[in-house]
Amino acid sequence: MVTDDLAPPPYRGQIQRVEGRSTKGGKRNGLPKIHELELEHVEGQRIAARGHQPPSGEGARSATGVCVIEPGQFPYCPICLREEVAADTMEHVPPKAFGGTVMANTCADCNNRLGSRTEAALQDWYDDAIQAHFTSDASPEPFGHDRILMLKTESGEVVMLMEKSSPGGPSPLDRLRDPNVQIHYKIPRPAEFKTGLLKSAYLAACLHFGGVVHTPSLMSARDELLRARDAKSRRAVRLGPIAEALKAHRTGVAASGPSLALLRSDHEGESTYLISLAGTILIEWPFPDLDPMLSPRMRAA
Ligand SMILES: [Zn+2]
Repeated sequence: MVTDDLAPPPYRGQIQRVEGRSTKGGKRNGLPKIHELELEHVEGQRIAARGHQPPSGEGARSATGVCVIEPGQFPYCPICLREEVAADTMEHVPPKAFGGTVMANTCADCNNRLGSRTEAALQDWYDDAIQAHFTSDASPEPFGHDRILMLKTESGEVVMLMEKSSPGGPSPLDRLRDPNVQIHYKIPRPAEFKTGLLKSAYLAACLHFGGVVHTPSLMSARDELLRARDAKSRRAVRLGPIAEALKAHRTGVAASGPSLALLRSDHEGESTYLISLAGTILIEWPFPDLDPMLSPRMRAA
């Protein structure tokens, strides 16, 4: 519920303004799909809600660009390092849904299988979305699968926005009025979305250094990616320590600029390096035993 004096949801009204949805046929499919929304209810009330807030005040730090991380070609898959498997698929870093472009070649397993274990949760995490379905006493089979965006109004109330509803059928919220219907939902699992972030960070580090660097943290990251790739299902992906320690920030703006870039943030005399994923996500450099400034590309510059 947004306010008590409105009719019960779902609201009948007009969308006044949507921000963040990518344009069809545009060059980039940058997230977020819906970041900000303003609705006008049939009775005239306006509801404005948005996804995550960009950090402000103490949390806000400025960062300056150090360099663009360029695409590269690897002699074998940089993730599994198998020489006997063709590394002939085009890897978007970050994933296409975040505005990534083809940045590297990987093998089909590391590209598609690992992607299928991590990318859906990564999008849900970014969008503040949950996956929902319904069951009823009469129909124990799950039905009405839907993705629900959790936007917030300025006063902190949650607006649930159904991304799609089954055509012709009742809306999910109409279903909830039926006392025999139960809603089941899943929030994005850190094991999946953080491993997805780790994949982009790992490949960014390989590209920045022009090859796979065998430091302990990079090799541990690789192990975590391979374990996720080989998990039996998304739900079987486990959170490894490098992925768990990742610090990622959503910028809340649509994709722009280079797919990968290295940024530096100076705070109280200390420099932190950040990997920019098409301007949509910033990941704090997660490999403490590898100084990004020591890349041969930096020394050549
Ligand atoms: Zn591979």
